[in-house]
Amino acid sequence: MGRLELNDLMKVFDSGDNEIVAVDNLDITVDDGEFLVLVGPSGCGKSTTLRCIAGLETVSSGQILLDDREITHLKPKERDMAMVFQNYALYPHMSVRKNIGYGLKITTDLSKDEINSRVEETAKLLEIGDLLDKKPSELSGGQQQRVALGRAIIREPEVFLMDEPLSNLDAKLRTTMRTEIQQLQQEMGVTTCYVTHDQTEAMTMGDYIAVLNDGQLQQLGTPLECYHKPQNRFVAGFIGSPSMNFFTVERKGNVLEHDIFTYQISSETVDILAGASERLTLGVRPEHIAIVDSDVENAIRTEVKVVEPMGELSYLYFTIGSETYTASVNGEMRVTAGDVINVEFPEEKVHLFDDETGDAVKNSETTENVEPTTQT
Ligand code: ATP
Repeated sequence: MGRLELNDLMKVFDSGDNEIVAVDNLDITVDDGEFLVLVGPSGCGKSTTLRCIAGLETVSSGQILLDDREITHLKPKERDMAMVFQNYALYPHMSVRKNIGYGLKITTDLSKDEINSRVEETAKLLEIGDLLDKKPSELSGGQQQRVALGRAIIREPEVFLMDEPLSNLDAKLRTTMRTEIQQLQQEMGVTTCYVTHDQTEAMTMGDYIAVLNDGQLQQLGTPLECYHKPQNRFVAGFIGSPSMNFFTVERKGNVLEHDIFTYQISSETVDILAGASERLTLGVRPEHIAIVDSDVENAIRTEVKVVEPMGELSYLYFTIGSETYTASVNGEMRVTAGDVINVEFPEEKVHLFDDETGDAVKNSETTENVEPTTQT
């Protein structure tokens, strides 16, 4: 079992004159065998949260429970967790064999032969059997990361903690290792907390994503929930690449007024907005922007500034007022910089946020069931 629970977790660093609240009342539960990704911009408290879970950082207040047992103040080695770091943290003077087996040597009373056979099994699983007698300096970054994973896996812990384990790898290797880590985690069924600032890793790897900002939890949900039903503007802007486009508007009856354009809304949307602030942020994802004829309702005339062909898709950068926005269109569409086009934001795909609080008032409609998860 490996059910991990953070209750009101708080970590405040005292740095001379001021206090830094790195983790702010975090409530997260990761069920046994689940893969949770902690994601957010630099400095949002991801690593500190992970280090608190590992016992590498003392907790200011709150609790950490593993299978209902409080572990908040236990030493790292008493927690039955294995951590994989971004910089691999291998012992440079030890061979791969010794690096992988070291944890077992100091935490168990297994014989040398037993440890050796576990090391060989693990190395085979990670396809690094032929590297066992090499030193870390003789290995590529990807191979070193496999050794670091091997060292975590061999201990068969209750929980894996991974802090940006793929950041030092090139883009192609990162994609391969992403899939391998997912496969390994699924096969082993070990509860995993994985830290990354990369929203693509979060979307593709996690059963659940916890989006953090300024130490606070912004949303905890499946990748699709966070994508289609963001709870606030921060999540909407952070999840999805290229990012969602935002426009400040004011509602007057059934019209949203922007400095440059007006946007007619249906009576259904007016009903949804009843009681909400008049000042709103309209959000639309690049892939939901339609290129239309000029006589279509809500069409906005604009000029294409830059076209970025990606193959299957092209990104069009266009301006409305002084701001630049992005549309993602079929890669076969013939459009070049300087073309005048009309863009339209389909109402069922539009998100609306309270302009002051950033809270979502209306999200895009989806055919799939991606209602927000309620944490127990
Ligand atoms: P990154 O992606 O850049 O690693 P992060 O989301 O992991 O960022 P943390 O490293 O957890 O962020 O840091 C959260 C906040 O706590 C930051 O403001 C950071 O400066 C601060 N912080 C982290 N460690 C310490 C420390 N030992 N002493 C003082 N402040 C710290």
